[in-house]
Amino acid sequence: MIIFGTRGVTTTPERGTFACPRCNGQTNFNLKRVRRFFTLYFIPVIPLDKLGEYVECAHCQGTYDPEILTYDPAQENQRIEAYFFIACKQVMISMLLADGVIDDEEVKMLQTQFQEITGTYVPENELREEIAEVSKTASNTLDLLAELSPQLNDAGKETVVRAAYAIAASDGHFDQSEQDYLMQLGQAMSMTDAHLHGVLATATAAATPAAA
Ligand SMILES: [Zn+2]
Repeated sequence: MIIFGTRGVTTTPERGTFACPRCNGQTNFNLKRVRRFFTLYFIPVIPLDKLGEYVECAHCQGTYDPEILTYDPAQENQRIEAYFFIACKQVMISMLLADGVIDDEEVKMLQTQFQEITGTYVPENELREEIAEVSKTASNTLDLLAELSPQLNDAGKETVVRAAYAIAASDGHFDQSEQDYLMQLGQAMSMTDAHLHGVLATATAAATPAAA
């Protein structure tokens, strides 16, 4: 009697190092491939279809989708940071436009704030072009923030609020349209009212010189 059947056989076609999310650093991995084999007397003889592939951390034995090998946390952080800078600029421009007037003080403050946050100087003419651009397309700032918000920690959200407040207050008053818009920015980032008011109270106190 001939005994035959099929069986899954696991091989390790690739090894290397990767950033294991559980070990929180570079560790060795084994790429595991499971293939169905035709067996004859329980011995796998003919490779059939591929059943699956996964990456196993050699340190914690955690298993992951092979896609993890192309994930670079440093590069990912850089990408988020660049995105954050763009969002900050867009938020400040939208705040600048909230009261319907483009004040020179606001433009100057935007330039200063952006440089403080990103370390990059934006020439005034470039900035004014961007302001004109945003005023035409408008309204997607809140969507942009809502999209970015899961990647932001509290410090990042507070930076956005403080930057927006600095623009709003730079013309000497923080009017209703600006206050409303700031509340919307906070909500887009899922900040609680208490958190938002706390950040604003600190920003207001910092902006008002103490009486001698
Ligand atoms: Zn691990």
